[in-house]
Amino acid sequence: MQELAGNLFIISAPSGAGKSSLIQALLKNHSDMQVSVSHTTRAPRPGEQDGVHYHFISVEQFKALIARDEFLEWAEVFGNYYGTSKSTIRASLSQGIDVFLDIDWQGARQIRQQAPSAKGIFILPPSLAELEQRLNQRGQDSSEVIAKRMAQAHNEMSHADEYEYLIINDNFDTALAEFERIVLAQRNGYGSQASKHNLLLKQLLAKTAN
Ligand code: 5GP
Repeated sequence: MQELAGNLFIISAPSGAGKSSLIQALLKNHSDMQVSVSHTTRAPRPGEQDGVHYHFISVEQFKALIARDEFLEWAEVFGNYYGTSKSTIRASLSQGIDVFLDIDWQGARQIRQQAPSAKGIFILPPSLAELEQRLNQRGQDSSEVIAKRMAQAHNEMSHADEYEYLIINDNFDTALAEFERIVLAQRNGYGSQASKHNLLLKQLLAKTAN
């Protein structure tokens, strides 16, 4: 993906680390940031809306999208397919909107190959006990699913060193402030600034006629 005005961020974490809440809280204060809505074949959890949390589709529909090369990346997680659509992300980035990809480490690896300027942020819980407690409190998953997610948490966290930034979500407000600082600092990166201020750079660097 060529350099576009918006920045692409990959946000990963074990389930229950608070990733979605942090992203939603940051979006509330910034209209020029978006989270990419993935496609998934898993069933909606109570309260989840189609087109808002995910595009919920069948396995057949998902496979058809893979065949049409519509995904920037896709992966199988917990026995379900998840994928990120190319077209919506490109449209947002070209308008200077920063886009967050809420995806796992497998998807992150694919994104880095296609969009090397994407920055990865990994969110960790303060302890395993706290992670398990948060999953239970969420009340969305059965105890069987929670046990499966705890087992997967170790696997997901073992890939934290593949990311540029690490946030420990112990105190929510502190974690949110750190998240915001990372994203805002990235906006001043040369690539992002150069594509936003292309004309200004040209004018400033144009040779004056003698
Ligand atoms: P959940 O079912 O809890 O919403 O998500 C399960 C896992 O799938 C999370 O680790 C989440 O980051 C990952 N995930 C969600 N959307 C995508 C996607 O589009 N691509 C990939 N690779 N992973 C995703």
